[in-house]
Amino acid sequence: MMDYIDSYHTRTRLPEAQRPRLHDVLKADVCIVGGGLAGLATAVGLAERGVTDVVLLESQRVGWGPSGRNGDFVSPHYTSDTEGLIRRVGLEHTRELIKFSRRATDLVRSRDAWKTSRDRKKAGRAA
Ligand SMILES: Cc1cc2nc3c(=O)[nH]c(=O)nc-3n(C[C@H](O)[C@H](O)[C@H](O)COP(=O)(O)OP(=O)(O)OC[C@H]3O[C@@H](n4cnc5c(N)ncnc54)[C@H](O)[C@@H]3O)c2cc1C
Repeated sequence: MMDYIDSYHTRTRLPEAQRPRLHDVLKADVCIVGGGLAGLATAVGLAERGVTDVVLLESQRVGWGPSGRNGDFVSPHYTSDTEGLIRRVGLEHTRELIKFSRRATDLVRSRDAWKTSRDRKKAGRAA
């Protein structure tokens, strides 16, 4: 199993759950491939909708890729700036994309699962 790089994320993470290597054939309603932000958000979204027979396959470790190495900023931006988006998809689609991204940002912020250990410590102090 690959080790995590030394980063803010690894230094502040919660104790790791045991996630055994898959040896058997599993059956599930949904199989998610990849334990990065996209895969984990999909699993959380399914659980919120009552879909719990879900298997998540990760070839290294959960959050091992860019999801465990990023700058930790949740922001409603695309890699292209707004003018570039308008050139590529037009004004109306750009507006929709920006709304979509803002809704996604709000959703991420609303989920307890994404709160950092710093957020949890602050909440504990406030209580
Ligand atoms: C240095 C850096 C800084 C960044 N900063 C920010 C930031 O501040 N804000 C922001 O919003 N974004 C940032 N990003 C981008 C953001 O981290 C990525 O867009 C996001 O993490 C992508 O998530 P993902 O789940 O799609 O992919 P990944 O994080 O790549 O997750 C995919 C996972 O799938 C696994 N996998 C791949 N193939 C298989 C397979 N065949 N079977 C099983 N598992 C497999 C991989 O091991 C990996 O764990 C940054 C990225 C980098 C590299």
